[in-house]
Amino acid sequence: ELNYGANNVDADPIRWADHSIREAQRQQIKLEGDLRHAVSEKALVLFYQPVIDLISGEMAGAEALLRWPLPDGQAPIGPDKFIPLAEQLGLMDELGGQGFEDACLQLRRWQELPGNAAFWVSVNVAPTQLRNPSLADRFIAITQATGVAPACIKLEITENALDVDLSEINTVIDELVAAGFSLALDDFGTGYSSLGRLINMPFTLFKVDKAFVWQIPDGRGAGVVASLSHLSHQLKFDALGEGVETAAQEAYLRDLNYRYAQGYYYAKPMSAADFTAWAGWPID
Ligand code: C2E
Ligand code: CA
Ligand code: CA
Repeated sequence: ELNYGANNVDADPIRWADHSIREAQRQQIKLEGDLRHAVSEKALVLFYQPVIDLISGEMAGAEALLRWPLPDGQAPIGPDKFIPLAEQLGLMDELGGQGFEDACLQLRRWQELPGNAAFWVSVNVAPTQLRNPSLADRFIAITQATGVAPACIKLEITENALDVDLSEINTVIDELVAAGFSLALDDFGTGYSSLGRLINMPFTLFKVDKAFVWQIPDGRGAGVVASLSHLSHQLKFDALGEGVETAAQEAYLRDLNYRYAQGYYYAKPMSAADFTAWAGWPID
């Protein structure tokens, strides 16, 4: 038997490994508790990233993206981390509903500014939300309470969310479309859905994933960006290039008749107040 002195714990590799596993578990449990608390306190906020209409060169709308504000000095936890955790903890329905309501309230304020009536916001909808049979009723009630038209809200559904038995989510999707929401296929090209399924779904916008856009103009992904443009035109969907960071990427998308572009080239996601200032709108 190993026999180390009490003050020599760190020298024992077995005890040390055990200690670091327990430390990781402790941190995970704390993170889960913090997230539950943040959701129940409605502490998460939306940032907004502009979407540019490549025909007019003007901003047409914005994507709402969740952020978790943490005390100064604490490392930020991005949505790539807390969204999957919220799904796993069964919090996503609540968090997604809060985000949707916040986005509607903000959209209403922005649309009231002169000349802004057609401005739209897109909201990400997580796969678990689509499996809630009352999702459409809840979203419709929120738009009525906040006074926004569903036609000014795009719901972004990632391609991976469709990697399920579609009969589970088809009714909800049909109800959302019947209510006037438009649907965008997010991260297009990264999932495993067959085109045969995708082209039969009621999308009006394809958001082509940044992994392909970043390969413009010379990488193989540029060919994907080109062929998805042809596909979307055949299907009469609009196409949007995500993650645009350079003028060359924008020019390529414009040449291929992409309707919209979004990315750091124009602006990073911003708080609502910063977005209003960036847009040059009168501060409300
Ligand atoms: P997404 O829906 O694909 O959102 C776009 C992500 O790309 C955002 O990251 C945005 O900040 C980032 N991005 C945009 N332009 C550029 C660019 O030019 N360069 C680079 N490097 N990145 C760019 P973010 O905000 O960290 O969100 C990550 C993901 O988390 C989102 O990917 C989405 O899947 C998820 N997410 C965020 N907010 C929500 C939400 O409210 N609900 C749900 N269900 N998911 C959300
Ligand atoms: Ca998105
Ligand atoms: Ca995306």
